[in-house]
Amino acid sequence: MFEIIVNTQLHTPYSDGRRYHADVAKEAARAGLQAVIATDHNVRVFGVEGYYGGVLLLTGEEVHNRRKESGNNHCLIYNCDEEMSPYGPTPQKLIDEVCRRGGMTFFSHPFRREPRGRDDRVAPCWTRWDVRNFTGIEIWNHQTEYKSWRLNFPITAFASLFPSLLISGPYRATLRKWDELTSGGRRIVGIGGSDAHGSSRGIGPYRRKVFPYEYAFRCVNTHMLIDEPLTGDAAKDKTMIYAAMQAGHCFVSYDLSAPGKGFIFNAQSGADQASMGDELPRRGAIHLYAECPSSGHIRLLRNGKPVAEMHGRILRHTTTDTGVYRVEVYRRFRALKRGWIFSNPIYVR
Ligand SMILES: [Zn+2]
Repeated sequence: MFEIIVNTQLHTPYSDGRRYHADVAKEAARAGLQAVIATDHNVRVFGVEGYYGGVLLLTGEEVHNRRKESGNNHCLIYNCDEEMSPYGPTPQKLIDEVCRRGGMTFFSHPFRREPRGRDDRVAPCWTRWDVRNFTGIEIWNHQTEYKSWRLNFPITAFASLFPSLLISGPYRATLRKWDELTSGGRRIVGIGGSDAHGSSRGIGPYRRKVFPYEYAFRCVNTHMLIDEPLTGDAAKDKTMIYAAMQAGHCFVSYDLSAPGKGFIFNAQSGADQASMGDELPRRGAIHLYAECPSSGHIRLLRNGKPVAEMHGRILRHTTTDTGVYRVEVYRRFRALKRGWIFSNPIYVR
């Protein structure tokens, strides 16, 4: 398996972003990414996919019901060669139509902190959990986490200088929902993205570009494990990237706190081996192995409940219990323990 770093959510001036595709790809190259996927709101942009320098730029779409809801029920569409926004008002129809075309659907920022007053409750932003056959959810959205803080002027000014102080990890509500869905027998892929817009924030005359694309691309990324190294052939590489996403062969990493590249999570039982996203049949003992590129607080969860945790680089755990296993890693960064790496599950049946 070969690891590549991808950003799966960003915007251009076709919706509410500031920079066009070629410039976005240049910023991604500077941040050390191998691919980015532009997901403009309710518009699928054709004719721009391809390599720009060393970065593969792909386009998807972020669809919602434009007439009724602005902030809720945003659905990311990947690998679908058609404009899907006409289906925005009917989520199940949207998912079915994307599936029919061989594409994928992920719920964008499914929870967010209520941006009202001091209420720091986390509320669902995706409300249609009755739908079936979606591919996954965005477990961590960098821009949404930052924006959810409603701060007064001096703090806003300070926070825009040090935005990383406001970033602490995926919402517990999102992770709980993910565990609930996967424990119920479904395979649900988790991804994380910057949701980069390149826009500035502030109050009155005070404005600052808080997250230039390049900075955002150094933060929350999806690391994907592909079968062969990227070839430089856009069509071939696009197929490999979307296959890795569909299979859940990926993990989410907050690379600003420390590079997540090199993280491993696999499991073995009898002669069978599995990595993130895979199913593993139990044949006697199950050996789980997680390895981080540097030290952190590693937690192994089974069906959402911690079964092993330790501080260090390598966690090993042997069990006979089937279930859905995933790994979370936290590390100290800017004075606090913050989320770092979140694996996709291994489904031991
Ligand atoms: Zn959105």
